[in-house]
Amino acid sequence: MGISSQKALLFDSTRCIGCGACYVACKQVNRLPPAQENFLDEKLSAASVTVVNQRNGRFVRRLCMHCQNPTCVSVCPVAALEKTVEGPVIYHADRCMGCRYCMQACPFNVPTYEWNQTQPRIKKCTMCYERVKQGKSTACAEVCPTGATLFGNRDELIEEARARIRAHPAQYINHIYGLQEVGGTSVLVLSDVPIETLGYPTHVGTEPLPMLTWEVLRKIPNFVVVGSVLLGGIWWITKRRVEVQRAEQQEEV
Ligand code: SF4
Ligand code: SF4
Repeated sequence: MGISSQKALLFDSTRCIGCGACYVACKQVNRLPPAQENFLDEKLSAASVTVVNQRNGRFVRRLCMHCQNPTCVSVCPVAALEKTVEGPVIYHADRCMGCRYCMQACPFNVPTYEWNQTQPRIKKCTMCYERVKQGKSTACAEVCPTGATLFGNRDELIEEARARIRAHPAQYINHIYGLQEVGGTSVLVLSDVPIETLGYPTHVGTEPLPMLTWEVLRKIPNFVVVGSVLLGGIWWITKRRVEVQRAEQQEEV
């Protein structure tokens, strides 16, 4: 699958009415804890991998941006995060060793952690990867009553965004957020006010961040070698502990 047919989401904040249908649908398909009544105040968490907030009189969705060159993927020492050819950035819980580097590295502050679980996992939006593989839309886009959240091919959504700006130049700022930020993302955002007004970070630059990360790490080769060995060791011990625990439980049965 070429980059042009990668899947993406277009969020047009000028059309969002803050109904929360996307937030509820996401919880249902991902079997997450039930929706909160005061959901507009909710932050991303292990219980909510997308939220709708109110910022300066606008409604704003927050979720993983599914970066084209994701920093979370590049810093993960055990490849627990993966940028798929279809576009979504997914998570392999069975590979994760819980170092939480992805949480530190994400420029959009997206991944969260199941702090209350005995075997915690990273939680973030996976752009309904299983549905996408079956040719379906994401749950959030399917239920959006106003077209504020659209799902489709990234290049077609970019055209749609450009067409909306062209047709209503007074209604939009002339900027598609995510077209170039951090080298491009698979979530694109339209706005009628400067994007920072909606709370999205604007200092992230247009360079893919993994390149910058690598530039820094490359200069301290011991970090790469020592860090990998150390982390590999921690991961092995953690995994071994879980295996022993499981074996003990089976013996008890
Ligand atoms: S927004 Fe953060 S978690 Fe999502 S793909 Fe980009 S770096 Fe990874
Ligand atoms: S379903 Fe659509 S209109 Fe409703 S909160 Fe989500 S994006 Fe906004």
